[in-house]
Amino acid sequence: MSDQTSPICSAKGCRTPAVWVLAWNNPKLHTPERRKTWLACEEHREHLSQFLGVRGFLKDVVTLAAWESAESPQAPRDPQAPRSPGPAGDPS
Ligand SMILES: [Zn+2]
Repeated sequence: MSDQTSPICSAKGCRTPAVWVLAWNNPKLHTPERRKTWLACEEHREHLSQFLGVRGFLKDVVTLAAWESAESPQAPRDPQAPRSPGPAGDPS
């Protein structure tokens, strides 16, 4: 398993890997179907969702895993997609 960068909690100063996705929308700035997302660790989920909730922005709180699978339910994972330069990869 490769060590991919895991998403980090959006709370200020927090470096904890996120496990929650808070989907929100500011009707003054965004069209209704638009979704902004914040990431939250277990500790900050409540804090962040309250922040959005009192403003009426909060739309959804789902786990990161659920969010990712919902976002691309049948995203084809192309095994041949280039993720790193080939053996003789020339970056320029
Ligand atoms: Zn956090």
